[in-house]
Amino acid sequence: MKGTALRAEKIGHVFGTGETAFTALHSVDVEVRRGEVLLLMGPSGSGKTTLLHILGGLLRPTSGKVWLDGERIENLSEEKRGALRLKYFGFVFQSYNLFPVLTATENVLVALDLARADLREGRARARRLLCEVGLEKRLDAYPNELSGGQKQRVAIARALAGDPLILMADEPTAALDAESGHRTMELFRRLAHEQNRAVVIVTHDPRILPLADRIVRIEDGRIAPESDGGDAARRQTEGAVP
Ligand code: ADP
Ligand code: MG
Repeated sequence: MKGTALRAEKIGHVFGTGETAFTALHSVDVEVRRGEVLLLMGPSGSGKTTLLHILGGLLRPTSGKVWLDGERIENLSEEKRGALRLKYFGFVFQSYNLFPVLTATENVLVALDLARADLREGRARARRLLCEVGLEKRLDAYPNELSGGQKQRVAIARALAGDPLILMADEPTAALDAESGHRTMELFRRLAHEQNRAVVIVTHDPRILPLADRIVRIEDGRIAPESDGGDAARRQTEGAVP
């Protein structure tokens, strides 16, 4: 079942004021759909992270509107947006942000709502999430015993803790070798296609282009015209699909 998860209309964002004001986004329209992997692609400094943070309710745009599941969110208080983030979003940050003194299981456990589940149930659920991302053999490993790709998977398992509708990742393959990057993308595709989540990935890594369902290109804070639907970009790279 597909459908719109997020819709942004005429998003503008200005950092700073007066002489130091800098317009990072100019009237950006974008739609995020369930069941697909959307790539926000563009060179460094083009506004990808800013747009991701606005779509994820982490940052309020200076103009434009954002709908989550049909409800406006950009005008809500920080507190209300915080509650929506917990309910609807999972974030995977490039630096993984794992606790070094906790095992893989414990790193996922901390993201579970333990008010609802007891510790035993929580551990079982953390293990299930780690199995889901292919880490069944590394449940008790500490971050420094894991490869970059494995740490990334722990971060993804943790982002799945709240069973989010929307999964967002900022440059998830930037620090990975080609094979790990490919496996991470395969995992994101599975989470989108089999679990009907919306996956939004910000990247300037051309290697992962063929694994996207849709590509939106950003240049200097604007949607690049050739990205309409992403089909053109997809056709260009079709030959590279494994
Ligand atoms: P990308 O993720 O595509 O590399 P960003 O969204 O991080 O780009 O940044 C877009 C532009 O906005 C860049 O020119 C950046 O320097 C500027 N920018 C980002 N964050 C801030 C900020 N907090 N204050 C001022 N300028 C910022
Ligand atoms: Mg960025």
